[in-house]
Amino acid sequence: MLNAEQIKSKAKELGAVLCGIGDLKLFEGTDPQRNPLSILPNGKCIIGCAIPVPKGFYKTMESKSQFYTYTSLGVKYIDETFAEIFLLRLGNMIEDEGYDACLQRNVPGMRIKGDKTTNPEVKSTYELQFASPVAEGKPVPDVIIDFGQAARICGLGTTGLHGRIITPDYGTFLRFVFIITDAPLECDKPFEGEMCDGCGECIKACPGRAISENGTDSWQCSVYYRGAHKSNPFMKDDFLKDNPEREAIINGEKRFDSESAKALYPSLRFLPETHFGYVPCLCGKQCEVVCTKHIKQMKSRGEE
Ligand code: SF4
Ligand code: SF4
Repeated sequence: MLNAEQIKSKAKELGAVLCGIGDLKLFEGTDPQRNPLSILPNGKCIIGCAIPVPKGFYKTMESKSQFYTYTSLGVKYIDETFAEIFLLRLGNMIEDEGYDACLQRNVPGMRIKGDKTTNPEVKSTYELQFASPVAEGKPVPDVIIDFGQAARICGLGTTGLHGRIITPDYGTFLRFVFIITDAPLECDKPFEGEMCDGCGECIKACPGRAISENGTDSWQCSVYYRGAHKSNPFMKDDFLKDNPEREAIINGEKRFDSESAKALYPSLRFLPETHFGYVPCLCGKQCEVVCTKHIKQMKSRGEE
């Protein structure tokens, strides 16, 4: 009979560096649009796996020698190709044993009804504002689980101020996938405490001032992720030359909302988009770089 050890060993063989299994009962009280039990009502557990993003990509962005590979390989390839093959193979193993495996990959371009945020990694996001349930008591489709909540319940890590999942051994340099299943696997304990200690390093590091004590403003981030700050090496002297707010924008001082952010996107095409509409990351993901360094330092001091 299929057990947790076999799942974890297969996940590692397929390329995951972390694998945890969470009890679906712990999602009790979760918004039905986010609840894995809305997807598989007789589900028992959720399997969470983390795929590593090579840290060299962050180093080349930090040294400003190469940006495109982070987006094309570290984001697009992992989420659009690697994650899918990984999920299908692990899912097949579960279904071959007679259980259901509901595979959950990142859904970059969609937001559940009522979620007004965006995903800075893609050219546009669509809120499912016109969706409605098929019957009373049913959730509004599409149900999209909260990866941060799922990672905590699987015992993998917790979400930081910058919105990324932080883990003790890999910091934030990871992409996540999940499988909801009715297989009766032994579950891990949820992650206790918080990986984010509120040190504020990410607030200081973001060139677009997108992060505050209250979290990350995704629209502000989307503009500076695309390279609106003067630290972007692809920016020419004539960038926004007729825009009266040029200085405020390139210094990261202007505040953007959804409308003003979208209006600026056409001026921020410094490098081509990749397949599936991923936009190149030109901020160097500085929020994650400083956070991962901070976590490493805390660990070396035994403060984790
Ligand atoms: S850099 Fe500090 S404040 Fe920011 S997410 Fe990481 S631990 Fe939290
Ligand atoms: S450093 Fe980049 S990814 Fe992080 S919050 Fe700022 S703009 Fe967004």
